[in-house]
Amino acid sequence: MGLMDGKVALVFGVANKNSIAWGITKRLHDEGATIGLSYAGEILKKRVFPLAEEIGCDFVKECDVTDDAQIDTIFEQAKARFGKLDTLVHSIAFANREDLGGRFVDISRDGFKLALDISAYSLIALAKRAEPLMTDGGSILSLTYYAAEKVMPKYHVMAVAKAALETITRYLANDLGKKKIRVNAISAGPIKTLAAAGVPGIRLMIKYSEEMAPLRDRVTQEDVGNTALFLASDWGRMITGEVIHVDAGFNILGMTISDEEIAKIEGGE
Ligand code: NAD
Repeated sequence: MGLMDGKVALVFGVANKNSIAWGITKRLHDEGATIGLSYAGEILKKRVFPLAEEIGCDFVKECDVTDDAQIDTIFEQAKARFGKLDTLVHSIAFANREDLGGRFVDISRDGFKLALDISAYSLIALAKRAEPLMTDGGSILSLTYYAAEKVMPKYHVMAVAKAALETITRYLANDLGKKKIRVNAISAGPIKTLAAAGVPGIRLMIKYSEEMAPLRDRVTQEDVGNTALFLASDWGRMITGEVIHVDAGFNILGMTISDEEIAKIEGGE
């Protein structure tokens, strides 16, 4: 018996084997979910199809979330294939490189619109199409980052997009709750992925988080996958509108100074 037996999950955002969406997909599949995958762009096709094959998934469709017609098509295809939907995973983000890094005040109007459209509005667009398919209730999940709450180096336009995504999570949760559709976001610690490579200094961020977080550990795709499974399954039945941190506890910290640094300063005084 798997936690996801009889459930159908549609996952947006697998780019390659390092994608957080792939970590989530594997856990949902391990627990019995039937999986549908969506990818963006020809270049990723050759990476996503072999992964889909690994889990025996033959519903693999292209969908650029900036295009409403493509979103309509994939949900029509999902309805025709599965008849219903239980879980929707939104693991999508994009910003122009120049709007990550540099100075925050230099973010362009077009760059702002693009980042917010792909990384935040798309959750509304996908949820709207998922709602009529979630006839038996459902669970909608997205991925966010702590930069939505506190200022983080160089995250800039994506921090604004994540703040929007977290607010959208709460409003969707309130809107769709009557239909027993739950909407939650996972705030993951930094993980080396394709999207993360666009954030200047990501390697330093990973190292710093690992050294400072209460659990002194590095978050993996599997860790996020486990929390996603919990939220997608009936175990998360009464949880909605939440942002759950899967970050080794980093978000509880105020100022971070290592024991070694303090010892060095105190020893010198
Ligand atoms: P990733 O590059 O593997 O995934 C990002 C996905 O977004 C890709 O599959 C890409 O194709 C998709 N995408 C971009 N533009 C799109 C569009 N127009 N239409 C459809 N899909 C589009 O990287 P990831 O780190 O796994 O990112 C997944 C999510 O996790 C993102 O929301 C990201 O912000 C979030 N997140 C990542 C980290 C991290 O450190 N890696 C931490 C917290 C949150």
